[in-house]
Amino acid sequence: MFVGHYGPAFAAKSLARSVPLWTLFLAVQLVDVAWGVFVANGIEHVRIIPGFTDSNSLDLYDMPLTHSLPAALAWAVGAGLVYAIWAPREKRRGGAVIALAVFSHWIMDLLVHVPDLALWPGGPKVGLGLWNNYPLALALEFSLLFAGFALYLRVTRAKNLVGRIWPWIFFFLLIAAEQVNHSMPLPDSIAQAGYMATATFILITALAAICDITRKPADS
Ligand SMILES: [Zn+2]
Repeated sequence: MFVGHYGPAFAAKSLARSVPLWTLFLAVQLVDVAWGVFVANGIEHVRIIPGFTDSNSLDLYDMPLTHSLPAALAWAVGAGLVYAIWAPREKRRGGAVIALAVFSHWIMDLLVHVPDLALWPGGPKVGLGLWNNYPLALALEFSLLFAGFALYLRVTRAKNLVGRIWPWIFFFLLIAAEQVNHSMPLPDSIAQAGYMATATFILITALAAICDITRKPADS
């Protein structure tokens, strides 16, 4: 799953209005940010097999440190704790929301991945396999994204004209990014695929920050 992960990020803004949207955007993709670096450096492993699923060509056969259930939980708790320690006392609640956002990644991946998510390193692997039906997987991603986005627009309001327009541009950029991702030629190497994935997640995080600059909580 790619842009569907950002549905929970947008939605989480309604649970913790003090947490910037960019932080939530980074949180929901945190394990994939690490995955990109790990596969590029041979720490985790992926094979490119054209047509492996209806949606993409990635055989994600070894990712115990980012996508096994205990690893996903550990990343979630770790990120939540880092936030809670770093945040001012009255904003510590945000740490729990960050942890939920990080863990939402595994739940969303569970829906679309073929069984490649280990219940524990070396243990049985799960995945409901919606990637084998691209139109359905895409409909799920866009529905999640739009539901979260609609909630975000309700709990925030624009500070200026840019704040009114930018979220919509950003939303359609995410839709376009999904299309580009799907129609791109296969990468030349695993390292290229990994670094490109991580760079894309960081770029999207930076674009989310423009929402933070130009909008504020609706009740403030
Ligand atoms: Zn993932």
